[in-house]
Amino acid sequence: MDASVAVVGGGISGLSTAYYLSKAGVSCTLIEARPRLGGVIQSEHVDGCVVEGGPDSFISIKPAAMELIADLGLAGEVIGSNDHLRITYVWKGGRLVPLPDGLQLMVPTRLMPLLTSRLLGWSTKARMAMELLHPPRRRAEDESVAEFVASHYGAEAVDYLAEPLLAGIYGGNPSDLSITSVLPRFVELEARYGSLTKGVLTELKANQAAAKKLPLFRTLKSGLGRLVEVLADRLEGHSTVLRSRALAVERTGGGFRIRLDGGWLESPQLVLACEAHSAAKLATALDGRLAELLAAVPYSSSMTVALGFPDRAFPKPLAGFGFLVPKRERRRLVACTWVDTKFSHRAPDGTTLLRCFLGGADDAGILSESDDAVVSAVMDELHEMARFDAPPAFWRIFRWPRSMAQYTVGHPGRLAEIQARAAAIPGLQLAGNAYTGIGIPDCIRMGKQAAESIARASCTV
Ligand SMILES: Cc1cc2nc3c(=O)[nH]c(=O)nc-3n(C[C@H](O)[C@H](O)[C@H](O)COP(=O)(O)OP(=O)(O)OC[C@H]3O[C@@H](n4cnc5c(N)ncnc54)[C@H](O)[C@@H]3O)c2cc1C
Repeated sequence: MDASVAVVGGGISGLSTAYYLSKAGVSCTLIEARPRLGGVIQSEHVDGCVVEGGPDSFISIKPAAMELIADLGLAGEVIGSNDHLRITYVWKGGRLVPLPDGLQLMVPTRLMPLLTSRLLGWSTKARMAMELLHPPRRRAEDESVAEFVASHYGAEAVDYLAEPLLAGIYGGNPSDLSITSVLPRFVELEARYGSLTKGVLTELKANQAAAKKLPLFRTLKSGLGRLVEVLADRLEGHSTVLRSRALAVERTGGGFRIRLDGGWLESPQLVLACEAHSAAKLATALDGRLAELLAAVPYSSSMTVALGFPDRAFPKPLAGFGFLVPKRERRRLVACTWVDTKFSHRAPDGTTLLRCFLGGADDAGILSESDDAVVSAVMDELHEMARFDAPPAFWRIFRWPRSMAQYTVGHPGRLAEIQARAAAIPGLQLAGNAYTGIGIPDCIRMGKQAAESIARASCTV
């Protein structure tokens, strides 16, 4: 079998690569090991609810996702988060305490809500006020998110803001994660303004008009699975989808030879759009050091549990978007979203849909527990934290082993070496959440960049 481009991995990174290749008139063979496309994007429809097993939305400020959606003719199906209802609670000392208004991630921008918040003690509040005097600083070396945040706002801000906020995104630990890779904007603000608060306020002022128009998150009315469906449809006739696992890759005179479950595929161009630990196995025969670097990107495992309840299960309606559970207080739940408050069109009238997030760097073991044990652990904690006591009308569990890349301290240096070694292998491209962003817009951007670089190369041949 021959292909002009082989793309390994049919998640959003590989699908975007294949789509933008087809737009440029380059056909490809997309190789996906699972029976369905989309990778961690998986939407189900249960009792009239839209249940997202993996990601539930994408951040609005990064343009690549909206550009792709508009290109596919799906702009009319986009819905934004109900930001006017947005309150996020944090479980602290036996109760749910709202995050103070005006926080930009963990950066406070409003004084009164901070002063009156029960989430943080007086010494942290004083430290946050004093942070306005933080001098500009250029960091010579990467450091952890925990060190960085502590140097601005103190240890309590790490435990009750940075840790729970990042656990819900990365499933990771702020003492392991790289500030340069995870929050590059904060590093820039520190270098320019010293104080993060000062920097964020200055930026907010400059971008006020634009910022007001955009909802924080966006998604598709019938779920992100729709994006996968439409991408797959658009590939038909232009590209081939092979349901097979790529087992090994060899160099040939004209490119690559890929060993599949049932045969070989030859291709002059190869895009590895799978998880870095999987790409590492495939890169072994291409460049041992590249394989080693790819294998060294850690991944966390996570699980989401969707639960549907009749509204009457709740003595009073749930306010806000949901809650986060800091590691200091944590048992099994990392976070819980009130899905039908965060987005409209998620549950029919009379039904409340919750989505719990478990696992992460500190509790990967939950993935091997039985469904019954998981639901029972989730319900015990929900009863205590959200104070209701009724069995769910339905539940769905989604397990995502080793699916979320962790940009640990030193990631920028390792990434530079990965990129340099990959660039030295003619015809090879990398895309996926292990490199320059883990969110959906980042993965789409990387897929598009891989496709553009291949299309450019084929024009100059
Ligand atoms: C639970 C969860 C919630 C998330 N929430 C959000 C969110 O709300 N917003 C957001 O922006 N991001 C979110 N993310 C992150 C984002 O969804 C992912 O980073 C992104 O979708 C990853 O896409 P990908 O294509 O790079 O990788 P994946 O989706 O992991 O796809 C990789 C694919 O490669 C295939 N593959 C691997 N090895 C081989 C092989 N050898 N041969 C053939 N196929 C192979 C796999 O089967 C898989 O389908 C979330 C992630 C998870 C896990």
